[in-house]
Amino acid sequence: MIPYARQSIDQSDIDAVVAVLRSDWLTAGPAIDRFEEMTAAFCGSRFAVSASNATAALHIAMRALDVGPGDWVWTAPNSFLASANCALYCGAQVDFVDIDPRTYNMSAQALRGKLEEAARCGRLPKVVVPVHFAGQPCEMAPIKELAERYGFAIVEDAAHALGATYRDAPIGAGRYADITILSFHPVKIITTGEGGMALTNDAKLAERLRLFRSHGMTRDAALMASAPDGPWYYQQIELGFNYRMTDIHAALGCAQLRRVDDFLARRRALAARYDAALADLDLVTPWQHPDALSAYHLYPIQVPERALVYQALWGRDIRVQVHYIPIHLQPYYRSLGFGPGDFPEAERYYAQALSLPMFADLRESDVDEVAGALREILATIDRRAVTLG
Ligand SMILES: *Cc1c(COP(=O)(O)O)cnc(C)c1O
Repeated sequence: MIPYARQSIDQSDIDAVVAVLRSDWLTAGPAIDRFEEMTAAFCGSRFAVSASNATAALHIAMRALDVGPGDWVWTAPNSFLASANCALYCGAQVDFVDIDPRTYNMSAQALRGKLEEAARCGRLPKVVVPVHFAGQPCEMAPIKELAERYGFAIVEDAAHALGATYRDAPIGAGRYADITILSFHPVKIITTGEGGMALTNDAKLAERLRLFRSHGMTRDAALMASAPDGPWYYQQIELGFNYRMTDIHAALGCAQLRRVDDFLARRRALAARYDAALADLDLVTPWQHPDALSAYHLYPIQVPERALVYQALWGRDIRVQVHYIPIHLQPYYRSLGFGPGDFPEAERYYAQALSLPMFADLRESDVDEVAGALREILATIDRRAVTLG
């Protein structure tokens, strides 16, 4: 069986977790500080705030930016549900910006058009959430220009994109975003089991992220509404959550981050091997924007007769997946008024999308097996079409 994704765990990961279990701190301890420092250093950001998962990190990012009722948040329909749900958690309203048919990322051109219209009817977004789909960065320079012109904040959903670069800067360095969100779910670039991180260069935002991560509580007298009663004193100054990561997870994260360059090199080599092996087939391999270097969380292709191809690959124990069913077509979002035809590029892409197996421990022989299987399946479909025609 070839899964579409899988974590890579070695003895160094196991040893790191065991060491925490034997230590004094299972949560709020030194492994958290170390993981946050290492992630900030790797991504080139000033601050890193860990969280129990990326969905929680997205939620506190929205709250840190004061998103609430009456506000609009825009994201891409070709993403995981959490990119949009985080705004609804805050009582804000969500809208989507259609994708660029070449990168499957939020189209900067579609964003410009939608902003011009929104400016006319006074419904500009407070926050835009570009998603670096499959690990390929969005066109952040034009998106940042629009943010300055129209006054919205940018929260990058970089759940797929740890280690990706845009115009030679790592994703998370904050040149084009106010906050960047990472995920450490087992299918992502590195894993902590469950886990997430919010990166920012803004000290005030980092402070607010930490506040919302832990009940809206502070021990910092400078933030309190009144003078502390004594050294034991804390105050709740916002309605926060318990979204803390544990030291057990963070220790795994540190061990994984020490291996991230190998993971990324491996994914890029496997993607190049797919590119070559699939070049002459009747399918679309993932086009890369010259400004972007992908982390290759996914290797998404577009293939005609996708349902047949999906079935046939599963029949050979090759567990491909589909990323993504456009968020606006989910029943929950339809109940908010969205429907088919709203974002045609995302819908067109979804109709043919198929994510091939991609993870650091995937072998070259697995890539060759997947490519060979695709070649045979497409030939069979062609023959059947000829016979039926
Ligand atoms: C995985 C993922 C998330 C959510 O990450 P969790 O850590 O599972 O909460 C958010 N956005 C995107 C694009 C993702 O792929």
